[in-house]
Amino acid sequence: MERKIIIAIDGYSSCGKSTLAKQLAEKLGYFYIDSGAMYRAVTYYLMQNHIDRTNEREVASALKNIHIHFQYNKVNNRNETYLNGEMVEDAIRTLEVSNAVSPVSAIPAVRDFLVEQQKHMGNRRGLVMDGRDIGTVVFPDAELKLFMTANKDIRANRRWLELKEKGMNLPLAEIVKNLESRDHEDTNRAYNPLRKAPDAIELDNSFLTQEEQLNVVLHTIRELVV
Ligand code: C5P
Repeated sequence: MERKIIIAIDGYSSCGKSTLAKQLAEKLGYFYIDSGAMYRAVTYYLMQNHIDRTNEREVASALKNIHIHFQYNKVNNRNETYLNGEMVEDAIRTLEVSNAVSPVSAIPAVRDFLVEQQKHMGNRRGLVMDGRDIGTVVFPDAELKLFMTANKDIRANRRWLELKEKGMNLPLAEIVKNLESRDHEDTNRAYNPLRKAPDAIELDNSFLTQEEQLNVVLHTIRELVV
């Protein structure tokens, strides 16, 4: 595959966006950026520094002290999120951060701060980015846009299993509650809400294995880049 493209993946919480994005990046030799990790890192910073997250002015002024970057760790074969030089990949995945992230992501100053950095990352072609506004705001000209959906109970079960494997044994009901409230807040915020871009391909993976899903998408990419 010669031509390097930008692949934008959006969708609801826990639809397997990052799993697919990572697999695509590996297969194609592309960079992968998890934009949700950036919103989580900002939220984590605000929590750690006891900043009033309901005060948009205070939040906006804290942004200048936040530096986020990603670094590949070859020991565990993962891309890790760094906040001001500290590795926070696990700390940003807790339920506390998951429960606080959507209201922070709704603040326009936070979105502008992160979208600008994300757009900049697109200067390197050959990029897969997943999130909520990648095909609509960050890369409206992306060559391939996917909008992923899946049945809510299936998503919650997958999430529960994923967290359990990481040693976090949480009640399923709490996970369902978190998914529902994040989907609601992400879809209904005033600024850059979660939307399917008109030219995005919708992919419901409720009854697809990861392998089937990957093959469907790789087939589409092959048709695009030849
Ligand atoms: O992708 P992930 O579930 O880790 O994202 C965490 C949260 O970050 C989302 O629920 C959403 O509030 C926010 N987010 C966003 N825009 C993005 C990516 C994530 O608002 N592009």
